[in-house]
Amino acid sequence: MSVPFTRTLRFKVRPESHAWLDAAAVEVNGVFNYCNQISVATATRTDRKRKWLSGYDLCSLTAGATEYFQHIGADTIQRICVEYARKRVAARRVKLRWRVSRGARRSLGWIPFKAASLKRKGTALRFCGKTFRVFERERLEGVSWKQGCLAQDAVGDWWLCLPVEVRVEQTTAPKASVGIDLGIKDVAVTSDGERLEAIRFYRDAQHRIGALQRRGHLRQAKRLHRRIRRRRQDACHQFSRRMVNTYQKIVVGDVSSLKLVKTRMAKSVLDSGWGLLKRFLQYKGECAGRTVQVVNERNTSRSCSSCGASSGPSGLRQLAVRRWECAHCGEWHDRDVNAARNILSAGSRCGTSVSGNESSPVERAPSQTPRLREVELDAQQAVA
Ligand SMILES: [Zn+2]
Repeated sequence: MSVPFTRTLRFKVRPESHAWLDAAAVEVNGVFNYCNQISVATATRTDRKRKWLSGYDLCSLTAGATEYFQHIGADTIQRICVEYARKRVAARRVKLRWRVSRGARRSLGWIPFKAASLKRKGTALRFCGKTFRVFERERLEGVSWKQGCLAQDAVGDWWLCLPVEVRVEQTTAPKASVGIDLGIKDVAVTSDGERLEAIRFYRDAQHRIGALQRRGHLRQAKRLHRRIRRRRQDACHQFSRRMVNTYQKIVVGDVSSLKLVKTRMAKSVLDSGWGLLKRFLQYKGECAGRTVQVVNERNTSRSCSSCGASSGPSGLRQLAVRRWECAHCGEWHDRDVNAARNILSAGSRCGTSVSGNESSPVERAPSQTPRLREVELDAQQAVA
């Protein structure tokens, strides 16, 4: 059985077009800020014409604005209007933050477009009268896109993001189920004892980043940041892929990084990428027909996975206890593996069979499944 799945292809844009894209991004900001201004003004009117402007309203208000712009076209303006309205509703605010075109607080460039305005032209691409090239263009072959965006990352490089629909084959994994405990010493430990070690990406590079910043090499420092981010992502990608390929049912604890960020372990927590790992497991699992379950991980490190007695270490103070013996049944436990086993059994208590290719119980409602443009926005954030 194969299912449709939206994934975002990313292409790095060759640097010769950066200047043009920078200029186009300034125009995008102009349209966005106009939407922001007019929508606040209309929403705060005191007469009976007060209303919240929808994307459609904004589109008709900006109709014909193309002639004031040198770079962007009507379809980009329309998409900015629609995106603006959607973001404003999602943020539940009267107005959004202005997009800044210059200075230190400059917004990262973003240029959305519809399918028709990005065309192939020989070995290059054509967008709004500008020909530009991307790296690895062979990946573009046979790809058809509905819409997409050009997005800039913190280093200043531009990326072409194209959400495309692919069909993926659903398979059955060789092993039944696994529990995963997310931790600090090891980012993840499975109930089978496999570990994803915390490579302390940020801490290792901290001194170098600091030195670069002090010397004013900001671009170099940002490059280093980007490299750390990519290494962290890579580790999470590999681990989650291995899990999804091996196990049919994956149970993860609902550990809250927000709570731990307030402690002195904040940097380790932020460095470990729990959120990233969970997201990867979720979407890769869904895509491959696995069950991915999130369970309450309360007491999972305290109770013994063999007899269930609460004899283990508890609280932040006893985080240092790595191995312990159950006072009740005398079994020796590795702290994290024991927790992972408890998470696994908590998952099976929730009563889903693990044999078939059933979809995951925490699956989002159809209304909440990421639609094309949200996927694209995620992609944009990931690039940034
Ligand atoms: Zn025990």
